[in-house]
Amino acid sequence: MSATIYTDSDADQTALDGRVVAVLGHGNQGAAQAANLRDSGIEMIVGNRDDEYLAPARDAGFAVFSIAEAARRADVALLLIPDEVQPSVFAEQIAPGLTSGNTLVVASGYNVAFGLLDVPAGVDVVMVAPRMIGAAVRTRYERRVGYPCFVSAERDATGDALRTALAVAKGIGGTQAGAVASSAREEAALDLFSEQAIWPAIMSVFQTAYQVLHAEGFSDEAILNELYLSGEPAEIFARVARSGLLGQLGLHSQTSQYGQLRGLGRLDPSELARRFTGVLRDDILSGDFAREWSAADPERRLAELRAHAEQHPLAAAERALLAEQP
Ligand code: NDP
Repeated sequence: MSATIYTDSDADQTALDGRVVAVLGHGNQGAAQAANLRDSGIEMIVGNRDDEYLAPARDAGFAVFSIAEAARRADVALLLIPDEVQPSVFAEQIAPGLTSGNTLVVASGYNVAFGLLDVPAGVDVVMVAPRMIGAAVRTRYERRVGYPCFVSAERDATGDALRTALAVAKGIGGTQAGAVASSAREEAALDLFSEQAIWPAIMSVFQTAYQVLHAEGFSDEAILNELYLSGEPAEIFARVARSGLLGQLGLHSQTSQYGQLRGLGRLDPSELARRFTGVLRDDILSGDFAREWSAADPERRLAELRAHAEQHPLAAAERALLAEQP
């Protein structure tokens, strides 16, 4: 399946003419997106809670209000507070200020995909989700190189939702490199799949490799440098991003290439495929993970899981080696 790619020429910034655009949450994404929108000639206000982080928004010259007041003034409200606090902050401070014809813009699909935002009737809901950290959303906009971005219209009450989404996407620099037509469900599922299937598998590979090599008498210094402390995997992944998984193989010795491809051919991926399918269908798409995460005491549960992971022998070896580094 291939997706539509929207470029700058698909976006019409006049969709925002005469509309008040509010960035709610002047954090990682909020500070970058507000600065980009302003530099794109879009009139902006900022909503942030009244704490020490409010000053940078004022210093940047934005008109700053409480989140509730900014939402009340907004025609187009960019929800840029952390996903885990969105349901309660949205219900208490933002939803009461939104009226029919307004647009809610989310930068992540999670809360829309799992029905955790009760958006008032008549309000458009769109997603403009940069696949980039906030700092780079700003620097790449300034360098005019763009970054990947997912766009969708989730609820089109006005008939103009996609046009608004593309105007916002262009304003933050999200169409410079081409924005991918997606959906909140797809964006959330892919994000969660990386986090819950791919990264645990990678961490498990390193943990298991450490245990096998340690049991054979190899030193912790040698093992961990080989695995990742040298920074070599980071270099390889930078090449993967440019040349592809197989394209970068040419940078390795013939022995290495032969060994990698021979090893790949001998692996049976069926167990991993079963596991990945289960995570995708049973945990993510079913909504089970979202329900568990909403119901749990997140900080306590996360602390328990972290404490458990810290008990692995790899964690102790890593702590010791990192403590010795200058
Ligand atoms: P941040 O952690 O940087 O927080 C953003 C803002 O939320 C801050 O201004 C913070 O205010 C405010 N905030 C935090 N808690 C509360 C609360 N309880 N009540 C009111 N305001 C609160 O968030 P991000 O920028 O990382 O994420 C924002 C959105 O962007 C999320 O939907 C995220 O998924 C998405 N996103 C993030 C990316 C990233 O790389 N960070 C990439 C792509 C999308 P204060 O400063 O006062 O604490």
